[in-house]
Amino acid sequence: MSAPLLPVATGRRAGRVVGELLREHPVAGAAAAVSAVAAAAAGLAAPAVLGRLVDAVDTGGGSVWPYVWALLGAAVLAAVLTGISTVLVARLGETLLARLRERVVDRALHLPSATLDRVRGGDLLSRVGDDVAKVAEAVGSALPQVAGAGLTVLLTLVGLGALDWRLALAGLLALPLYVLALRWYLPRSAPRYAAERVALGERSQALVASVQGADTVHAYADEARHRAVVDDRSARALAITVDVFRLFTDFGWRMNRAEYVGLAAVLAVGFTLVRAGDVTVGAVTTAALLFHRLFGPLGLLLFTFDDVQSAGASLVRMVGVADLPEVPPGTPVRTAARPAVELRGIGHGYGGPPVLVDVDLTIAPGERVALVGASGAGKTTLAGVLAGALEPTAGQVLVDGVPVADLRDHVGLVSQEVHVFAGTLADDVRLARPGAGDAEVAAALRTVGAGWAQALGWDTLVGDGGHELTAPQAQQLALARLVLADPPVAVLDEATAEAGSAGARDLEEAALAATAGRTTLVVAHRLTQAARADRVVVLAAGRVVEQGTHAELVAAGGRYADLWSAWTARG
Ligand code: ADP
Ligand code: MG
Repeated sequence: MSAPLLPVATGRRAGRVVGELLREHPVAGAAAAVSAVAAAAAGLAAPAVLGRLVDAVDTGGGSVWPYVWALLGAAVLAAVLTGISTVLVARLGETLLARLRERVVDRALHLPSATLDRVRGGDLLSRVGDDVAKVAEAVGSALPQVAGAGLTVLLTLVGLGALDWRLALAGLLALPLYVLALRWYLPRSAPRYAAERVALGERSQALVASVQGADTVHAYADEARHRAVVDDRSARALAITVDVFRLFTDFGWRMNRAEYVGLAAVLAVGFTLVRAGDVTVGAVTTAALLFHRLFGPLGLLLFTFDDVQSAGASLVRMVGVADLPEVPPGTPVRTAARPAVELRGIGHGYGGPPVLVDVDLTIAPGERVALVGASGAGKTTLAGVLAGALEPTAGQVLVDGVPVADLRDHVGLVSQEVHVFAGTLADDVRLARPGAGDAEVAAALRTVGAGWAQALGWDTLVGDGGHELTAPQAQQLALARLVLADPPVAVLDEATAEAGSAGARDLEEAALAATAGRTTLVVAHRLTQAARADRVVVLAAGRVVEQGTHAELVAAGGRYADLWSAWTARG
């Protein structure tokens, strides 16, 4: 059962996306381009001046000092311009990358839960982790060098041609050897890099899976088998990496051969022309220096080719995520401050047996409906469907007559298990509205009455490695997020907690305060929570089996009445 991977963009599509991003920064783009060309052009000055110097010595005419000063000036100018262009190109690259990264994270955050359930967790992790890091590394270090080297090669070839076409042609003899080396290398490398990315993704997937499932693995004493899977994938990833390196070394040899053949040709043709009195020794010197200058940048292109190509493989994977359909952010449609919610004929089944069957439910504006039922009845699934996080297989959810998919930001969902992000308590709440001021965050925390949060201090670090929160505390934090986001509709899947525990009682009060004035569905595990709702809906095996006020249902003596007497008997 191999879950599908997220899409991967084509190289052409990735190029177009980079182009679009570039067009959004025309000034920075132009500045980077101009400075890079100027830096590469300045590099041509030194070989030209040296050629003149050789001719001056050769013909015994005049002082050499002007040439020496010119040489020094050319070196300083080239160094200064190279420095400037490195900064401008790197800054441009970082800017574009930041934009792309925002888009990737945005799309990853908005992946419908249904898709998140289907795709491999490791794949998404490696896209936003490994791939983004790999592209960032290439942009930070390789991009300015590659741009500079590419331009230097180009301008040096132009300079050679302007100097003497026969010398340039002699140098170009090396070209077929280069082309051959590249034609040998390219078709072999691309599939290897792609395979390397896949192997690394599978390795991280296996690692993540065994860490996330550690409890289960222990419970079934299944360590050895999991270890074997991880080892196997690690070995495969290593083998592919070594293979890539071997190929690359071989390519380097082929490129070196081209360099010396070319240089020999320039010198041979050059001195033949000198003997014939066609060109000066200085011109041949300049040509040889220019030709030699090609190899530093070419070598650099060669050695970063590796990184560039593997960054390219990561880039198309990033763009694949960035190109996922955008979830329409708060469409212009606005609902009433307290909209009505209507579920019509909802069905769901996670691709297996039905979990929800033909559920009809209307929640009046501002009404609080409590959803109760045995474990596995489908409460969490129904809450997800109502919030637009799960796509129903049948029926539709309407918020004031508008499909919920178009109004996702109108519905706040607090899930049963809240992910607490690494950072301070206040930062975690602020996620709901990044622009919110400290006072608003504090007010939201106060609304949910998180006494423990005040006691701990809102600067307390939570999440990975921080202060550990109980499930009800994490939910209180999520309720504070809800208050800050202030959606007109709230869906709360209450955390299960020790009956009678202080945390659970606090959470019940927090839930009431946070959802006050909103059209609300709360999955209630504490039946006192249900008793305080406007209406109670009982779900059994995916169907609505009873509904009414708490008092009506207790009086009716049905399923809810049984649940209630069991709950009160628990004390
Ligand atoms: P409740 O919240 O009432 O306990 P759920 O909505 O969580 O019920 O689950 C209802 C049924 O759907 C259960 O049989 C459960 O095993 C199944 N189910 C829940 N989530 C998934 C999922 N992601 N994939 C497949 N089946 C699921
Ligand atoms: Mg549940």
